[in-house]
Amino acid sequence: MILNQENIDILRSKLVPKQSNFIGNKDVIPLSEKELEVISPIDGKVFSTIAASCTEDVDHAVTLARKTFNSGVWADMPPKERKIILLKWADLIESNALRIAVLGVRDNGTEINMAIKGEPKTAADVIRFYAEAIDKINGEITPTSHEVLSLIQKEPVGVVGVILPWNFPLMVGTWKIAPALAAGNSVVLKPSEEASLSLIEVAKLAADAGMPSGVLNVITGEGHIVGQALATHMEVDVIAFTGSGSIGRKLLEYSAHSNMKRVYLELGGKSPNIVFADAPDLDRAARDTAQSIFRNSGQVCVSASRLMIEEPIYEDFLNAVAQHASSLVVGDPLNLKNTTGSMANINQLEKTINAVVKAKEQGARLVTGGRRLHRESGGYYHEPTIFADVKSEMDISQQEIFGPVLAARSFKSEEQVYNIANETIYGLSSVIWTSNMSRAHRSIKAIRSGTVQVNCYSGADITSPLGGHKQSGSGHDRSLHAFNKYINLKSAWINIGS
Ligand code: NAD
Repeated sequence: MILNQENIDILRSKLVPKQSNFIGNKDVIPLSEKELEVISPIDGKVFSTIAASCTEDVDHAVTLARKTFNSGVWADMPPKERKIILLKWADLIESNALRIAVLGVRDNGTEINMAIKGEPKTAADVIRFYAEAIDKINGEITPTSHEVLSLIQKEPVGVVGVILPWNFPLMVGTWKIAPALAAGNSVVLKPSEEASLSLIEVAKLAADAGMPSGVLNVITGEGHIVGQALATHMEVDVIAFTGSGSIGRKLLEYSAHSNMKRVYLELGGKSPNIVFADAPDLDRAARDTAQSIFRNSGQVCVSASRLMIEEPIYEDFLNAVAQHASSLVVGDPLNLKNTTGSMANINQLEKTINAVVKAKEQGARLVTGGRRLHRESGGYYHEPTIFADVKSEMDISQQEIFGPVLAARSFKSEEQVYNIANETIYGLSSVIWTSNMSRAHRSIKAIRSGTVQVNCYSGADITSPLGGHKQSGSGHDRSLHAFNKYINLKSAWINIGS
């Protein structure tokens, strides 16, 4: 189906039946026999239900995943055969892209133009990247005594638990699931209760592509029940998580109190966007600045939510960004004419509204926006909002809002701006605009973040690792480095002396 309004309207009118867990390549009603309502942020209405699983359901899924792993049906399958199944899976996702994207948008409110590219199409690309890599990653022989043959073998870790947030569930999900599966592991996936539907669909397509039963299992429900049971389970070897710092902290505790499983965390950010007066293209910088914080209503982990503008161009640049912000059309994310969709859920909307109130109370200057939109629709929409003259000690400078709110200020010198850039607990991403390449290199060194983008805000591709410094996380998604999270190195030291 091609992307046009008629097809979108057909797909959005479809009823979504109540969803079960997907375990062992089939729908499984939870032992809890409970369900959670799925509320669309587009209009605040319930349009489906998902399983509200219990600890026993998690145990069932993990036990099956372990049994499947131990059987070798996937782990010992020749890599080139695993590759064929993964490539077929990617093709199926791509050929169902619009259907999956519309379902996901009904669940989490991302504007459809962005969802179609960022979700099923990216997921297919990510799966292909790791599928293609499987049979090109070799073990090693170390240079040691001629009496010894020293081998380094790479083995799958076993059962990988994946816990996801509600923003970009397919993209963020496949960043973890694809390398974990490609390496030969079994996976138990716990989507966010706010965005489970598209992941369940995609897991079913894996079964259609020939993935053996028990290799990829999806179990839905509340975080403090399902997520906790997964993260404390003794048969889970690795937890790969994207979400908030507070839950990340709990996962580390769960690991310590269970089997000391490896925990990889992709957490929040408060990313700086630094605009020097010598930026090569200030128009582009202003447009990208607005994009970086207002697309998906600011619910992007690498959103550049703190803007620092060199003093001589402060007011002009601020006005240019404000103009871009006011040209955005916020509304129904399934209407192709709208540029920006809804917030993912009522909590995110309320968090944003409270952050705006606080910023005003603490003395930040409101440049544009600041209000809830389309209340009559029942949906969760918020204006793109810019505050200027913010100070380091204000909440808006320190706390992740994860909404369409930009905090701007001016700076006088490189030294000052690097200090401001580094003064939060986060270190996920950053953006620099300058024509001076020496300065660009200095800034790459000076800024403590996992990614530094220079003269662009485009979101790097799958070849480039994404990971946080400081309290933005540990370990990396994307790139071949991601494999390391899902493999064990085994040393074989073989005496070959006479
Ligand atoms: P969240 O931390 O509230 O939830 C994430 C997942 O954890 C959900 O599936 C939830 O059900 C589960 N969970 C909740 N309580 C749990 C518990 N006690 N034990 C185990 N699991 C539990 O995050 P969210 O609100 O879904 O997502 C937004 C956050 O995600 C933001 O902070 C954002 O910055 C971050 N994020 C980071 C990246 C990145 O790559 N760094 C990408 C996207 C989102």
